[in-house]
Amino acid sequence: MFDFIKTLWIAGGANRLTVIACALLIGTATVGTIYGIVVRPGDVSFMQRDGHELQWDKVDMPIACYFEADLPALHRQTTLRVIASLNNAVGPKLFGPCFDWQIGVPLKTPDGSVWLKIRTERKEHAGATTTHRYDKRTGRILSAQVALDSQLNAEDLEKVMLHELGHVLGLDHDREKGSIMYESLTRRSSQLSSRDLKALKETY
Ligand SMILES: [Zn+2]
Repeated sequence: MFDFIKTLWIAGGANRLTVIACALLIGTATVGTIYGIVVRPGDVSFMQRDGHELQWDKVDMPIACYFEADLPALHRQTTLRVIASLNNAVGPKLFGPCFDWQIGVPLKTPDGSVWLKIRTERKEHAGATTTHRYDKRTGRILSAQVALDSQLNAEDLEKVMLHELGHVLGLDHDREKGSIMYESLTRRSSQLSSRDLKALKETY
C-alpha cells in the first residue's frame, strides 16, 4: 500500500494530487467517525425539528396545563406534584396553573399550554406520547399534548410524567441510563440528569 502511494508521489504531477485528495478524504472520514462516536444524537439536549431546536419562548411561560375531563385523579395529582418539583428545580416558573377542561375536547390545544389526556392508541414509547405544535420556521413550541396510558402504577406514572414534561419542554432522549430522559421506562432514572437540568436552566 505505502509502496504504491510512494510510486504515485514520485511519479509527480496529477498523481500527487490524487494522493493529496485521498489523504483529505480519509482525514474527513476519520473526523466524521470520531464526531459520530463522541457527539451522538443522544447528547443533544433539545429535540431537533426542521433544522431548529424545539423550545418555548419565555413570553409563553409559565405553560398552562389542561386536564381532559376523564383524566383519572391519580394522573392529575401526579402531574401537579411533578410540575411543582420541576418548577422548584429549574427556578423560574415553567408550568402552571392547571385547569380542568370542562367544555369537551378543543379542536386545537390553546397556545401556551399543554393538554393532558388518556392515550387511546398503542404507541411504542413507554407509558405516554408527547406531541408538539410548533413554528416550523423557528422551532418555537406553540402548544403540546401528552397522551398517557390509564393503567400505570403510581411509581411508573411519576417517572412517565417527568419524562413527558421533559419532552414538553423540548428535551430529547438521553443515552445515559442515569437520566429521566432515557428512553426505556424500566432502566430510566427518576430524575433529570445534571446536563438536562443545566440546559433547562440556561434556556428558560
Ligand atoms: Zn421519551
